[in-house]
Parts: sequence; C-alpha cells; structure tokens
Amino acid sequence: MRDQVKYIFVTGGVVSSLGKGIAASSLGLLLKQRGLNVILQKFDPYLNVDPGTMSPFQHGEVFVTDDGAETDLDLGHYERFIDRNLSQRSNVTTGQVYEAIINRERDGGYLGRTVQVVPHVTDEIKNRILLAAENGEDVDVVITEVGGTTGDIEGLPFLEAIRQLRLDLGRDNVLYIHLTLVPYIKAAHEIKTKPTQHSVRGLREIGIQPDILLCRSEMPLSREIKEKIALFCNVEQRSVIGALDAQSIYQVPLQFHEEHLDDIVVEKLRLDCPKPNLAEWEEMVRKIFSMKESVDIAVCGKYIQIVDAYKSIIESFTHSGVANDVHVNIRWVDSEKIEEEGPERYLGEVQGILVPGGFGDRGIEGKITAVRYARENGIPFLGICLGLQCAVIEFARDVCGLDAGSSEFDPDIPHPVIDLMLEQRSRSKMGGTMRLGAYPCRLKENTLAHRLYGETEISERHRHRWEFNNDYRERLEEKGLVISGLSPEGDLVEIVELPFHPFFVAVQFHPELKSRPQRPHPLFKGLVGAAKQVKKNPSEWPEAAPVAHPER
Ligand code: GLN
Repeated sequence: MRDQVKYIFVTGGVVSSLGKGIAASSLGLLLKQRGLNVILQKFDPYLNVDPGTMSPFQHGEVFVTDDGAETDLDLGHYERFIDRNLSQRSNVTTGQVYEAIINRERDGGYLGRTVQVVPHVTDEIKNRILLAAENGEDVDVVITEVGGTTGDIEGLPFLEAIRQLRLDLGRDNVLYIHLTLVPYIKAAHEIKTKPTQHSVRGLREIGIQPDILLCRSEMPLSREIKEKIALFCNVEQRSVIGALDAQSIYQVPLQFHEEHLDDIVVEKLRLDCPKPNLAEWEEMVRKIFSMKESVDIAVCGKYIQIVDAYKSIIESFTHSGVANDVHVNIRWVDSEKIEEEGPERYLGEVQGILVPGGFGDRGIEGKITAVRYARENGIPFLGICLGLQCAVIEFARDVCGLDAGSSEFDPDIPHPVIDLMLEQRSRSKMGGTMRLGAYPCRLKENTLAHRLYGETEISERHRHRWEFNNDYRERLEEKGLVISGLSPEGDLVEIVELPFHPFFVAVQFHPELKSRPQRPHPLFKGLVGAAKQVKKNPSEWPEAAPVAHPER
C-alpha cells in the first residue's frame, strides 16, 4: 500500500507580500533534499477562473505549465525551487471551484439538494487538495499555499476546507504553517509582536491552530521575543522560526534550515527521512554573492513598472549569471521612451537586449526600434514571443522593404508578416484559448539555436495567438533570415535567427518558464555568455555584418 500523503498548508497574516510563495518553495526544497517527493499547490481566492485574462499590471506574470494551464507566478517559484514540472492541478482558484459546482448543479448532479458553501464548496476544495497528489506519481508531501491574508472574506472557504482536512486525515498528516510579520518600530527601537498575535487569533477563531510560525522580520528575533510569540500564539517556542529579510530568495531555504524548520516539520508529520543534502544549493548561493564581473542587459517592455510581470525572466538571468560567473544588471527600458527619445540613450551602453512577450500595440514601435538597434550594432539579442514577432516585422521592413506589421496591431497592414493563427480565427472566448503549454520543436542543424541547445528535439511552453505568417517565409529567408526551429509538422515557425549577427535569436515560446537554478535555460545562458564576451573584448567582438539591404 502507498504511504499516506502528508499535507502542509501555508497561510499568511498581517500584510500581503511577505513571501509566502518563497517560504512554501523553500520548505519544498528542504523536504525534497531529504529524499521526499514533493508537490506544491496554490489557492487563489479570486473569482477569475485563472489569471490568464488579467492584466500584468494587476497580476504580474502569468506562469504557464507544460499542460497548458495559465497560473499564478508562484508556480514559477515552486518549479524553480523543487525542480519539478507541475500541472494545472497545482493552481486552484475560487473561479474554478464555483465553475465546477455550478456546472454540476446545472447537470442535476446535486439531486435536489440546496448547494451551499459548506459542505459543497469546501468539499470541492478538499477534493482538489487530494487530487494534487493523484497524478500517478509517487507523492509524499503536498504543500499548499493559501493566497491572500487571513481575515480576507474570500479566503474563508479555503481556510474552512483545510481546517476540516485535519479532522478527516488526522493530526499526523496535516500541518499548518503561518507566515507573519514581526515589525521593528524605529521610533521605539522595539520589535512588535502584536500584529502576529492578532493574526494568529484570527486563525484560531476559525478553528486553525498553527503548528509553526514563520516570522518575517528585518531584525533577528531574540529568545525573549520568540518566547513571547510562543506564549501568546500557543505555539512551541522552537516552532517560532525567524524569517529574516534576505538579499536573494535562494538564501531563504538555508536560513530556514538553520532554524531547523525541516527537522520540526518531519518530526511533526512523523516522516522518516535523512538530513537534507544542501551542498549544491549552498554552492549556488555562494556564487550569487561572489561574482566580480557584471554585464548590463536591457529588457525593453511596457510593463516595466511592475517587475512582477517579468518574474521568470529576472530569475532566468540570475541562473544564467551564476552559470557564466557574471552578475546581470537588468536595465528596465520602457519601450515608449525609445519611441520618444530614440534608442541611443537607453541602449547605447548595454551588452545585451531582450524584448519580452506582451500584448497590444502600445510601445510596439519602440520594441521594433530596439530590435533594429541590436541587429545593426551587433548587440546580443534575444526576442521572446512578441519579441520574435517584433524581430520578424523589423527584418521584413528594413531588410525586405515591406510595409510590414502584425494584424494584432493593424488589421489592414499591407504585409501581415505576423498573423492570427488559423485555429484562433474561430475563437470568441478570451479565457484559456491561446496556444498554451508545451509543444515540441525541431531545430535546424548548425544554427545558433542548435549549438546552444546541443540537441535537435526540444519542448518549450507557449502562450500566444499570433504567429509568423508562412506566406512570407521564402521572401524573408532569401534576404538572410534563418528559421532555425519549426514545429514537427513544419507549419509553425518557432525560432528565427540572423547568421551574420554574432548573437541574434528570437523564439515564439517562453524559455524563461523553464529555467531552473541548477539548469539555466540555454538561450539565456547563451545571451549572458555573449554579453560577457562583448564586455570583455569589445574590439574583438565582430560587428554585425550588414545583411542585404533593399534599394531604397
Ligand atoms: N500578443 C502576441 C500574441 O498573442 C504575443 C504574445 C506573447 O508575447 N505572449 O501572439
């Protein structure tokens, strides 16, 4: 018989943005390094079915799983920390729960009963917790992060469900961890425990007594403070864990381990496992803080005020920096500023340019200008999704002399080199209808992409509706554009590059979603490596050879 799966719930109190996702991920890593099979899951109490329809300004990045679910960006942290691909089962929203219940009700599935929050909504939530581990794989521990802050009205059904689950499965199988804030009040020179007391009281009122408290603070917690928190919150003193502000998110698991978080968790859940092996992780963290050189890479987007919108890109640069032993300074460039002031001021001193994904036409001309600047000046360039589309438009305009664009931005453009995918034309619903998730891609031999990946068959994750218009393939190839990655049937262009340029590659998929701390994505690793080379030997770096220009 399979062993009983253990369930850990991470709730948050006092304020949002304390780093619940990182805390859950860090515990996941510690348990994984103790030899356990771990899955992480996130509850999002909002009514959207998924974040796919939300603006990046509202929600930050939408993280896409292999199986094509549009999910919360915390899933990105989970995957990066436990180095495991998660599925749609790892993100549960109120919208999904109600959608399932209402559909069942319309189908007559409730046999005349009144459908209520308790037990129907809570049962549906519990089901989804149990389902997280039911994917045919061996799972020892499921860690579920409950989004929002205790006290939020919309979070109540989730908290009620996790309260019930301990009654259903027993004390040894369910653990509650609460992340809270212990602020330092400068004027009084004092650390305050009251907000934590209130937040735990709120949880206890609804029947949840946390087993462990993670206390986020900017100062180390003294023994007296821990004693006080323990007493007032009814938690053992050793289970009051300090969660000091960290410079890098990758330090957090090591801090937790020093405070014996994983020892306490395995003891409370009666798990039999060895101490964690953290040697590689420690080595990575050591490298993050010992890099002497740095490169500047510009990210030209339109959501740059909200860095959460590019979370996975930021992390991919960290991973690639470690691999190349160079610190990556990301220069956030608002592409509209390039439109207003030209590229020189923003891109003149960078060693790499990345144009990320995006939607809508605002700032698009600035991105196209950034691509041109990279192409003409031999600056290492990586285009992602919309970034590929901009690169294709730029090439079609400047090298092939076409009045080209994307039908996303101008339905009447004379040369729609980027056009709506065939299967998208009949779609009317917005949610979950893009080309989503992992698709295989075949690489052309002896291309930059092939060299970087070191293989010819790859799989990458997608999220788009528009694509390279095949009617223009020949014309663009004739002028020197190389299509180095195609779908296996050959009908979808996935990667383009410029052989006359030292490092110019653009992809229709999102490589940033698959970069992991110890396995940086080859395209990011390549971009950072090229940037480092440019910085070291700018004179030896080959200028971009002019690609054929049309007579103008
Ligand atoms: N807006 C473009 C499309 O839908 C690009 C999407 C993206 O960059 N993720 O095809």
